[in-house]
Amino acid sequence: KNVGKISLEQIDSLSGKSFPLCMRQLHQSLRENHHLRHGGRMQYGLFLKGIGLSLEQALQFWRSEFIRGKVDADKFDKAYAYGIRHMFGKEGKRADYTPYSCMKVILSNAPSQGDHHGCPFRHSDPELLKQKLQFYKVSPSGISQILELVKGMHYQLACQKYFELTHNIEDANFSLNHPNQYFIESQRVLGG
Ligand code: SF4
Repeated sequence: KNVGKISLEQIDSLSGKSFPLCMRQLHQSLRENHHLRHGGRMQYGLFLKGIGLSLEQALQFWRSEFIRGKVDADKFDKAYAYGIRHMFGKEGKRADYTPYSCMKVILSNAPSQGDHHGCPFRHSDPELLKQKLQFYKVSPSGISQILELVKGMHYQLACQKYFELTHNIEDANFSLNHPNQYFIESQRVLGG
């Protein structure tokens, strides 16, 4: 429906403005390490598909980042391109995989050491979460509100609070249940 709506050049700026924290963190790790492990590629790859990347754009996006690291183009094509085509339903049983909901991210496949997937409100140590939020310029009072919600295990409400604080609005007026919904609502608020 929105395939081809965004260009690859927009992703860096969109990740700062309109991605939820889980995807912002995956994007940043990918840019820094030129790699993401399987869980991260699935969570982030399907999200990007959901915001409108075409298969061709996705292959270009992942290839150009991976070959800046330890993977050369040949290895990328052999070891990783299949997984991306698979995500788009072009390989294997040709299922058209849908992006993960918050519940799926929060409840399944918890990240281990070296992984960057998962929900930072659920899976990051509170001290580390605090540092991330400071790094992203969330105010001290905003951070306290978020950490309070996290303590009560209200991870999606914490994420919604992050949305309100980073979009300068009082009340998000939606009930967050999906990272792609976060993106759509953000674009709506920002008039994108
Ligand atoms: Fe991502 Fe959902 Fe967690 Fe927000 S609550 S960071 S959108 S998984």
